[in-house]
Amino acid sequence: MWERRHLHDGLTKVIESAGYRRIQMPLFEETRLFMEKSGVEIIENLYAFKDKGGRNICLRPEATASVARFYIQELRNRPKPLRIYYHGSMYRYERPQKNRYREFFQTGVELIGSDSSLADAEVIWLACRCMESFGLKYILRLNHLGVLKSLLQELNLNEAEAVEVVSLMDRGLLDELEEKVSSKEFHKLRKLRGGRSVLEKAAKIIKEFDKPLEKLDELKNLCGILEGLVEYEIDFGVARGLDYYTGIVFDIKVEDLGAQDQVCGGGRYDNLIQLFGGPQTPAVGFAFGFDRMMEALRQGEFEFGYVKNDIIVVGVGDTRIEAFKTASILRESLDAVVELEILDRSLSKTLSHASAQKTRFAVIVGEKELAESCVTVKDLKTEKQESAGLVDIVGWFEGRM
Ligand code: ATP
Ligand code: MG
Repeated sequence: MWERRHLHDGLTKVIESAGYRRIQMPLFEETRLFMEKSGVEIIENLYAFKDKGGRNICLRPEATASVARFYIQELRNRPKPLRIYYHGSMYRYERPQKNRYREFFQTGVELIGSDSSLADAEVIWLACRCMESFGLKYILRLNHLGVLKSLLQELNLNEAEAVEVVSLMDRGLLDELEEKVSSKEFHKLRKLRGGRSVLEKAAKIIKEFDKPLEKLDELKNLCGILEGLVEYEIDFGVARGLDYYTGIVFDIKVEDLGAQDQVCGGGRYDNLIQLFGGPQTPAVGFAFGFDRMMEALRQGEFEFGYVKNDIIVVGVGDTRIEAFKTASILRESLDAVVELEILDRSLSKTLSHASAQKTRFAVIVGEKELAESCVTVKDLKTEKQESAGLVDIVGWFEGRM
């Protein structure tokens, strides 16, 4: 938990410094919240059941649908744009394997109330900042689902069919994809990937189609903002399993993390809030796979800087109560980790325990010293010891820590 807290605190610091505020949502929701737009992959893997009242509920598989519900019920009158973030456990009945669990954690942000490319750029930049703040090397891939979806619509597929095609892409079901869409332009486009120059190539492929070209301009704007700030790759084949995405989508991978190397996924969802009965409200966000981030840190041999005890207080002879009191005072007054010996071990055993814990100082409360209102303080690093007055024991440490 020390290591996990380290990652948690680091991520929240970066996220909060961009103006995002923490929210917390319930672990379970009505199942129907996820049935409409969360996508086949999530629906197939729901932990869904009836409660004693016969309600259909499920453990949350992801947070964005809950955020949309929460927004409509509680947050819709707040000033916009609204910047919120969360950290918590999610549940999916998947086949467990390395870095894929049935209970896992996500840390995510949602930026609600802006359809600007600046909003897209902000969340993408923020995800990259989080990676960089831990020194993690990553690969960021960008796409705009609006380009693909509107192209499919101009090719006479309806919206439901377009969503299905994107889902096939996400799941890598290429044979079915070829069967479903015959358009050469579509397949040329979805295979296109590379640096900023592929934007021109894409424009050539879809030059006959107005709406997709318009969406492509949004992607161009985004790239213009991000240029020089973060490294990215454009990949028109990036789809996301969550059906509610309408615009920019992106993912972040860490090399050498194995088969499950995607640590972050996100995108723009401009219709979800309206679909759930709220006002038309554009939004964009992402979720980090917290457990995979942990793995990436461990693999990179990240220095977690473990907590150490600074002081151990040990009573020798009939001084247990005084030792207890001394430890209490030090714990209350110092910004230090103070341990109290409570196993009645001999002094030498206590000191070797303390050295093993890399404790810096031992406060030895002995009967003789106590009679003179003193204790012995031993520096376990230098082995030097000296006498210190009990009344000002806090002051003695303040100068030395
Ligand atoms: P994947 O393709 O790995 O299944 P996903 O597309 O289902 O990921 P999202 O639903 O976008 O992922 O969730 C965002 C992040 O949460 C992922 O990038 C991943 O890091 C993490 N994640 C998703 N499912 C799991 C899981 N079962 N166990 C651990 N982490 C997960
Ligand atoms: Mg998945």
